[in-house]
Amino acid sequence: MRIADIILKKRNKGELSGEEIEFFINGYVRDEIPDYQISALLMAIWFNGMNERETTDLTLCMRDSGDQVDLSGIPGIKADKHSTGGVGDTTTLVTAPLVAACGGKVAKMSGRGLGHTGGTLDKLESIPGFSVFQEMDRFIEIVSDIGIAVIGQTANLVPADKKLYSLRDVTGTVDNISLIAGSIMSKKLASGSDVIVLDVKAGNGAFMRNPEEAAELAKIMVKIGNNAGRKTVALVTDMNQPLGNAVGNALEVQEAIEILQGKHLGGDLQTVCFSLASQMLILSGLAGTSGEAEKMLEEALKSGRALEKLEAMVKAQGGNPEVVRDVSILPQAETTEIITAEKAGWVCGIETMEIGYASMLLGAGRTKKTDPIDPAVGVWIHKRKGDRVAKGEALAALYVNKKDNLENVRKKVAGAYSFTEKEPEPVPLIYQVIGS
Ligand code: URA
Ligand code: CA
Repeated sequence: MRIADIILKKRNKGELSGEEIEFFINGYVRDEIPDYQISALLMAIWFNGMNERETTDLTLCMRDSGDQVDLSGIPGIKADKHSTGGVGDTTTLVTAPLVAACGGKVAKMSGRGLGHTGGTLDKLESIPGFSVFQEMDRFIEIVSDIGIAVIGQTANLVPADKKLYSLRDVTGTVDNISLIAGSIMSKKLASGSDVIVLDVKAGNGAFMRNPEEAAELAKIMVKIGNNAGRKTVALVTDMNQPLGNAVGNALEVQEAIEILQGKHLGGDLQTVCFSLASQMLILSGLAGTSGEAEKMLEEALKSGRALEKLEAMVKAQGGNPEVVRDVSILPQAETTEIITAEKAGWVCGIETMEIGYASMLLGAGRTKKTDPIDPAVGVWIHKRKGDRVAKGEALAALYVNKKDNLENVRKKVAGAYSFTEKEPEPVPLIYQVIGS
């Protein structure tokens, strides 16, 4: 087999066989095929797509490129969740403690920030002392004891994705349904949970911009998960504004804690977290219906048991557990700057990716792999879509340490907002639940 023939075949809209897919994945992981040929193949896939059979073969081959995590040491059904990536998208820090408080087991391996999107590991590391590096035995012990732990991916989990993702990131080939499905589902399958609940984002802050495309991605991921013997459900949710109000690492931890303290009830972040947690409880066999699940979750929140789960996890992973009662323990920015409305009106649109990039420019994300991140900085959204604003009223606050980019960031955040004179129609938050 020759890689040049495989590139030509896909360029000419051919269907790749299982052997051809295995050949290019394994050859790339072993450094036998160079970046330039895989780049050409990725671009051919981007233009001509892969069918369901090819996408499934790609996913399974990627899964098999490294270690498979064995969670059988943890009693009970293990449930995992995954977001395709958004802004102010702190769902793990709220959902996982809620599920654990209802008797679920969440053994989660998370990622770092990517482009304009944040990552759970970076957020958790803003808690003083917290370590995302735990030995596998210790990880299994923590989940067995308290029902929840969140760690970084082990070094050899889906090496094919590590290589392919970095290449896609710099070759304009991230936003393809088959490549995203392969990337996400290979990692979910290798991470070993029995239940997988996916949050597929649609909108101007997501990789998939419209709900139809996001639903197509969701359907194929659900199919791959179920065919591999995992109970899989996907929600398609809106990402046309940050999900929570906080964008930035410590700020997002603060908002997650406040939700578990019972604040911000009825907000978009809490609503999506309850829907994800509800699916995790149903698929884990802990609730029969979503009505029953929602009742359990409300009780877990009201009683403080969900907050106690987060506290127990922080303590078990070396962090200062006091943080769940006193968020001032988190790193604090030196100054805040308020962005105000230049005229009165209704907020009808927010360029979500611009808010993500603004936070990144303040230091909350990386522009290069090796950049350090500043946990304290970011953006707090005060006005959301559908909110009425008066002239001079605060739209958002910037949490700032270094001022070199400040003018640029101000412009980005102010420019991200658009207004109308009439109250806009409300927009859906959850478009679809697929596979339930
Ligand atoms: N998240 C991933 O892990 N992979 C993708 O391809 C996109 C989002
Ligand atoms: Ca409103």
